Amino acid sequence: MSSLGNLTVLTGPSGVGKGTIVRKILDMHTDVWLSISATTRQSRPGEIDGQHYFFLEKKEFQKIIDQKGFLEWASFSNNFYGTPKKIVKEKIEKGNNVLLEIEVEGARQIRKSYPEALQIFLSPPNLFELEKRIRGRGTETEYSIRNRLAIAKKELIAIKEFDAVVINEDIDKAFKEIEVLMGLKSN
Ligand code: 5GP
Repeated sequence: MSSLGNLTVLTGPSGVGKGTIVRKILDMHTDVWLSISATTRQSRPGEIDGQHYFFLEKKEFQKIIDQKGFLEWASFSNNFYGTPKKIVKEKIEKGNNVLLEIEVEGARQIRKSYPEALQIFLSPPNLFELEKRIRGRGTETEYSIRNRLAIAKKELIAIKEFDAVVINEDIDKAFKEIEVLMGLKSN
């Protein structure tokens, strides 16, 4: 990937455990830089603006779209999510190890702008397990749970598009596989 930094995209259905794995990566590997996305969804209890997401009004988000300020953006479950372009480009150009945690449509857009990026799909062992995890998280309404599961079914069909598929049956095992894929640890 030349002298530029590495770019890794971690995708997979909502509730699969991307966030948990990302937190582990950041704890263990301080050289990895995670992009903080912008979103129009409401913050969940405990989420901090500027730390978990940049929480924006739809109008503000649209303004950034118009200014071409996103590297990618997508609509997901009635909200918008986007990766800020300027900071991520700077980090990549400065040689940082950049990580994006985004949904499938955004991952496709990154594939066009950064075809050299490593694209990892984190998959649940099955849909029953995914539903259990989303419900267990206790953050979503029934409407949102059903919506996220319907999207997950479509996202799972896209699995073949990705460079690597990691099945999150055991979180430590999945984390270790991703560490190796990202070149953070040898096999
Ligand atoms: P949640 O509402 O559960 O935080 O996120 C919903 C989905 O949006 C998750 O699959 C998450 O990975 C994805 N997501 C978060 N940030 C971004 C982003 O900047 N762009 C895209 N395309 N998806 C994102």
